[in-house]
Amino acid sequence: MKSNNALPVEALPGRVHCYMCTHNVEATVLKRGSARQTQPGQTCPRCKASLDSSYALEVFSELAAA
Ligand SMILES: [Zn+2]
Repeated sequence: MKSNNALPVEALPGRVHCYMCTHNVEATVLKRGSARQTQPGQTCPRCKASLDSSYALEVFSELAAA
């Protein structure tokens, strides 16, 4: 049986969608296997809202590798 928790988590620079101001902003994105998640505790540089529930759009290092 395979557990997702066993995969290493990488914190990488990326871009997330802020639901409060509906802009895409740069933030640290956690990458676990193929799953991506916004790192908790960050705030939006535009509207200062919490990015905890924001959607992770891109991880920059993945774009560079593509
Ligand atoms: Zn915002």
